This record gives sequence, structure tokens and C-alpha cells, in this order.
Amino acid sequence: MEKIELCERNNCTGCFACFSACPAACIAMKEDKEGFLYPVIDETRCLSCGLCRKVCPVLSEKKKASSPAAKASYAKDETLREESSSGGVFSVLAESVLERGGVVFGAAFNEGMELCHVAVEKMEDLALLRGSKYVQSRIGDAFSLAKRYLEQGRGVLFSGTPCQIGGLKSFLNREYDNLITVDVICHGVPSPLAWAQYLRSREKKGRKVKKVSFRHKKLGWKKYGIRLDFQKGKPYFAPLDRDPYLRGFLADLYLRPSCYACSCKGNAPAADLTLADFWGVEKILPQWNDDRGVSLILVHSEQGKALLEKSCGKRITVDIDAEKALRYNGAYYASPSKPQAREKVLKLISETDFDRAIRRLYPRKTLLQRAFRKLLRLFGKSR
Ligand SMILES: Cc1cc2nc3c(=O)[nH]c(=O)nc-3n(C[C@H](O)[C@H](O)[C@H](O)COP(=O)(O)OP(=O)(O)OC[C@H]3O[C@@H](n4cnc5c(N)ncnc54)[C@H](O)[C@@H]3O)c2cc1C
Repeated sequence: MEKIELCERNNCTGCFACFSACPAACIAMKEDKEGFLYPVIDETRCLSCGLCRKVCPVLSEKKKASSPAAKASYAKDETLREESSSGGVFSVLAESVLERGGVVFGAAFNEGMELCHVAVEKMEDLALLRGSKYVQSRIGDAFSLAKRYLEQGRGVLFSGTPCQIGGLKSFLNREYDNLITVDVICHGVPSPLAWAQYLRSREKKGRKVKKVSFRHKKLGWKKYGIRLDFQKGKPYFAPLDRDPYLRGFLADLYLRPSCYACSCKGNAPAADLTLADFWGVEKILPQWNDDRGVSLILVHSEQGKALLEKSCGKRITVDIDAEKALRYNGAYYASPSKPQAREKVLKLISETDFDRAIRRLYPRKTLLQRAFRKLLRLFGKSR
């Protein structure tokens, strides 16, 4: 029997399209030593039908990107805006789908603080999906479940990273009028193993984390921080330049290998809408620069435009120039560069305490070190 080769390991995004499509259910998603999931085919049960290769978005040809329409927007509901990563547009869109009897898919933490894609049907459960989570989400059965809802004729909003939306579209392999997809401009997804080790380092003394906000706005939208709420005791909060997990994420230390050469960059997004932080708001819309969060919306299709219209009463919105706005959001076009220390960091994280690993391989410059470097520079110039 012919042996099926999936896409190259380094390019595999772990999108679950092959897993979801396999008619023999002979593909398992197995965790590697860095904590990322990869498909593994049980060859004894494989029918060699080749469907897994056909639905692989990495192996399929992509259309080149054209320039989308762009809008700056934020939710009128200030609590919603406060609890969201940027302007709370995702929640407003999701609400309008739920109000019409639809289902919303997105990334939520389970009780064990693992990130998984789930379906939400009630307004009060939308909070589970709200906020960016800086760890790769496990799709599990979400694609198959979404297909079931679509075939029942229910409205489905599916949100995720661009590679997850690409995987869903490939798996479905046809258009549905009742499907709307939303992706985010994605900097890359961190390893679930790094996340688990970080949590372990914060859960010392038996304190279990019950809630996380990676984009807490206590110090504002731009200088966001991570907040962990425990089952008992005081919460933990640290801003992006102090918390070891956020520092490591922003330095691209533990992203999935495929993120360093992301096949979604520069190609037409599979999603109807893309959401992002409207970085650069102070230059383009200075009157909106209140540091409470503004979303950038990129519109790629008529379906996306229609959903925006349905939710316009709950948002403040203005049309902007996409090209100008994207100048401040490099992650739309380019993949992050892979740091030399990446593999070492992940190995050390898996073997030792998270904070110690980051401290050792990616130390924060102390004030003294910064002052010393400044002096050296000054001294160098004066000579
Ligand atoms: C890993 C990651 C990297 C990002 N990188 C950038 C960037 O470089 N530049 C930029 O402008 N914006 C980036 N974003 C998007 C940005 O942070 C906001 O999510 C976006 O602006 C929408 O914000 P909101 O306030 O409308 O809604 P929010 O409520 O903040 O967004 C929630 C949405 O994000 C989805 N989501 C959250 N975490 C994940 C995850 N791990 N995997 C898949 N879906 C997830 C939820 O399902 C939901 O659809 C990133 C988001 C993620 C998850």
C-alpha cells in the first residue's frame, strides 16, 4: 500500500484539517517534545485515499493577497472593551451571531488551563472566548462539529488564527452561506508546553490558576500585562516587559516552528474578516488615542461586510486606509525571525523551572547594565 506523506514537519501548523478529514480516523495528533501537536498516521488502518494531503492547507495553492478595506473600531460597551485585547470587536460580532440563533467557535481554556477550540451558544459563555491567549489552541473536533452545524443550516462564526481558518476552509471544501470566519493578525503561537511550565512556576504553594488575562489593561492597552487569578489568594499581575512568559513570547522564543515561515503571510486570507490591534492609532486617528484599545478590522468579503453592518449599532467605527494602518502592524506581512536560542530555551524550559530558564538564556538587562551600556556608547562616541 502507498505510504502517505503529509506536509513537511517544519511547515505543519497543527491545524487538524487532516485529522478531521480522515475517513478511517487513523490520524492521531501527537505531542512532540516541544509541546506542539503533529499528525501521525496509523499505517495499519490507512486506506491510502490521500484525502489528508488534499485538505492540507500547506500543500494547497494559495491566492495572492489583494488590498482589503479597513476600519478602526471599538465597542460602545466600555466593560466589553476593557475585557478585550483591543477594541472588543470580536465580542460584538459574536453577539450578533448568537442573537440570530447561531453558534460561535473560538479558543477557551478548559479546567486544566489547556487552550482548546470550543463552541459557544449562550451569551454568558462568550467571555470564555474573549481576549487573546498566547498559546496554541487545540482544534480537536471543532471542524467536524462546525460542519455538522452548517449542514443543519445554523449560522456559524468560526474564529482563530489564519492557519486554523485556512485548515477549516480546506476541510469543508465548499462555501456555506451560513458560515462566517474571523481570523487575527497573528504574531505566532507559543508552545503549550512553555505555557504549562510557566503555570507550574506560578502555581507554587498549591494555588491553582482559575482565570488568565494575557492582555490586562491595568496599565493601559499599550503597556498591557498578564494577570492570573487564583482559586484563593491575591492575583498576580506583571506588565509585558517584566513577566517572563510575555517577554519570551514577544521575543519569539517558543513559537511553533511553522510560525517562523508562516505560509499565510502575503497570501489572501481565508477569513472573511481579520481583527487586530490598531497599533499606530496615535498617528492615524490621534483623537482616538485614549489607551483603552482600538481594533483594526480588515474586510475580505461581502459576508464579512454584511456581518459588520449587522453589528454596527454596538460599535464606533471609522473607515481608514488599510495600507497606512498596516505599516504599524508588521505581523500582517512578515513571519517572526527564529532566535538562535529557541531550541535551547524550549529544552531548558522542559527540564527546569520556567523563570530560571528564561533568566538564564534571556536575562532582563538590569538598570545598572543599561546605564553601563549607555556610558560605553557615550565613551565610544566621545573618542
Ligand atoms: C496568538 C495571537 C497573536 C496575535 N498577534 C497579533 C499581532 O501581532 N498584531 C495584532 O495587531 N494583533 C495580534 N493578535 C490579535 C489581537 O491580539 C486581538 O485578538 C484582536 O485585535 C481582536 O481583539 P478584540 O478586542 O476584537 O477581541 P478579543 O476578545 O480580544 O479576541 C478574541 C478572539 O481571539 C481568538 N483567540 C484568542 N486566542 C487565540 C488563540 N490562541 N488561537 C486562536 N484564536 C484565539 C478568540 O477565539 C476570539 O475570536 C494576536 C492574537 C493572538 C491570539
